[in-house]
This record gives sequence, structure tokens and C-alpha cells, in this order.
Amino acid sequence: MRNYNFSAGPSMLPEEVLKQVQKELLDYEGTGISVMEMSHRSKPYEAINAEAESLLRELMAIPEDYDVIFVQGGASTQFEAVPLNISVNKKADYVVTGNFSKKAFGEAKKYGDMVKAASSEDANFTYIPKLDRSTFRSDADYVHICYNNTIFGTRYSSIPDTGNIPLVADLSSCILSQEFDVKKFGVIYAGAQKNVGPAGVTIVIVRKDLQDKCNPLCPTMLKWSTQVKEHSLYNTPPAFSTYVSMLVFRYLKKNGGVKAMNEINERKAKMLYEYIDNSGYYKNSVVPEFRSIMNVPFVTPSAETDAEFVSEAAKEGLLTLKGHRLVGGMRASIYNAMPIEGIKKLIDFMKNFEKRHK
Ligand SMILES: *Cc1c(COP(=O)(O)O)cnc(C)c1O
Repeated sequence: MRNYNFSAGPSMLPEEVLKQVQKELLDYEGTGISVMEMSHRSKPYEAINAEAESLLRELMAIPEDYDVIFVQGGASTQFEAVPLNISVNKKADYVVTGNFSKKAFGEAKKYGDMVKAASSEDANFTYIPKLDRSTFRSDADYVHICYNNTIFGTRYSSIPDTGNIPLVADLSSCILSQEFDVKKFGVIYAGAQKNVGPAGVTIVIVRKDLQDKCNPLCPTMLKWSTQVKEHSLYNTPPAFSTYVSMLVFRYLKKNGGVKAMNEINERKAKMLYEYIDNSGYYKNSVVPEFRSIMNVPFVTPSAETDAEFVSEAAKEGLLTLKGHRLVGGMRASIYNAMPIEGIKKLIDFMKNFEKRHK
């Protein structure tokens, strides 16, 4: 029996995709071998790699002047790749809205005059600060944001206007959950294990004109242009993760693409927030305008009942609801692959739990 897994990442994958993987695991399309055992220079793998890129381009409507690469090292490696790749004035402005943007800022500081242009740390990251062009230094190489804050359950309500300064965004926990106008970004990066596929592959979407501004000390493996030139096959790629991600892209396309996913995601999140707000027992502290549709943190009146909630829920097949240690309480991560039935079952459990503990 499959459980509902509310993990923030690695997280649920569509069951249909897992079944396809299972079917093809021992013999991929008549090759007699698994994708895991296949040369990344072979025809079948080159086809997987090319299809992954073209499907992602189609799903996100990525313009021609952007390259798409699949790399390793997780989003965390991009925290350093970004300042190493875009290095003109060695100045960049960071918006700190949670743990991951704070980490990104911490890494980037090693490479130049990076400043925290705005932060919501004063209110434990429960909102997104107001930003406009005047927030940023006009000679900054880029502005860095994290659009959806996985741990604190916030997201931007719109893409900030940075004028001519390229906007770099960590979309690890929201890529493909809603439509993004890629043209508004200079660089987008996202680890796969939240809303795309298995851990191991990281998506980087980078505008072509931002690839020739590299710090000369940038390691070859971190240089975006290295993988752009080789279509992500400069060295041995995380082939299995890219293959499963490609199957997820096919699944998304078949099911109406990002627009359709976003409608379902909005519905799922609305159901959960409405129930929490009306219960009087559970509480979510995020300013409503900035509530994430992917990660929903909430608490009961005490840390003791929080702990009981998590363990009782697990017995009902509602897994990994424990909140991040920085926030406490619970967190339901409800990415694309979480079906609406999972939300209904969670709310039923919450009602029942509340009745027994109120
Ligand atoms: C999970 C996460 C990261 C870290 O990703 P890794 O792949 O573990 O390096 C970075 N940013 C955001 C927004 C995340 O959700």
C-alpha cells in the first residue's frame, strides 16, 4: 500500500511514473539493460537527455536565448556557482527570506561585496519584504531571491522588479508548481527532489549573455558554460535522476502542463489553509498574502500535542509531517505529486485529532 508522504524533500513522485520506472527497470526499451547501467554516450541515453530538455523547455515556455542544463551538487552548489559565474563588479544583492536564501548569501559573501538588501528575519521569516528597484544597488551584478521558502512556508506574491539587474532565483521547491515568466529571470536553479524527480539532478536555466562573465577562478565543473557546450554531458551525469525527471515531465505534459498543476495546487492549499484558519485549534503564522502553496507549516496549541500529532498521523499512513527544527510543529509539503485525496485524508485526520485533544 502506498502512503501519503508529506516530506519536504525527497518527496512524493507520481505513482504512474514510479510504475513506468518499475516496468523499464531491467530492460529499457529493448536494450536489455537498465538506464542505471547505460553509457551516457549511448543513443538511448542521449535521447532521454534531449527529451528531458525539450519537455522542460515546452512546460516552462523557456525562450531561445536561455540554456537549460542538468547538473549535480544540488541547489546548494549553485549557491556558490552563481557568484562565480556572474562576476563583473563582484557585487550582488541578496534578499534573505529563509534558511536557504541565508545560506546562499553566506556562500556568496566569500566572492565579493555581497549585501543583504532586504530580510524578513525580524519576524521569523513569516512574510516577504516589500521590494522595488530602489531596494537594489544599480551596479549589482545580480539580485538573488528564493521564491518559495520551503522551511518557513512563504512565497513571493509576485516577481520583484529589479530593472536591468539580472534576477537569480532559487526555485527548488516551486518550479513547475505555477507558471513563471522565464524572461523576468536571468538565472533559475532548482534541485529536483522537491517537485521534479529523485535527488541527484539540479536544473539550471541561464540566459546566454550571463555565461561569459565568469570569475577566472570558477572551477570548470561549476561553470555553466561547461555543461551548456556539452548538453549536460561534459562528465558522467546523474542519469537515473534525469531519466525519472523526464518521465515526470511527460506526465505533467499529459496532464495539462503547469497551468493545470497550478490550479490543482491552489485548490489543495486553499482547502488546507481554510481548514486551519477556521479550526481555532491549529495555527499557521504566515501573513496570508505570502502563504506557500507547496509547504504548509502549522502548530497545535502545544509542543506535546504536536509530537502526538506527528506520530499518530504516521500510523494512519500520513508520513513525514514533522516541521523543520527551525520552525517546530508540523509541515505538510504538498507538491505536484500529492493528490487531492491526500489533502482530504490529512484534513479528516486533523478534525479527528482536534476532537480528541481539544
Ligand atoms: C531543498 C532546498 C535547497 C537545498 O537543496 P539541495 O539539493 O539539498 O542542495 C535549496 N533551496 C531550496 C529553496 C530548497 O527547498
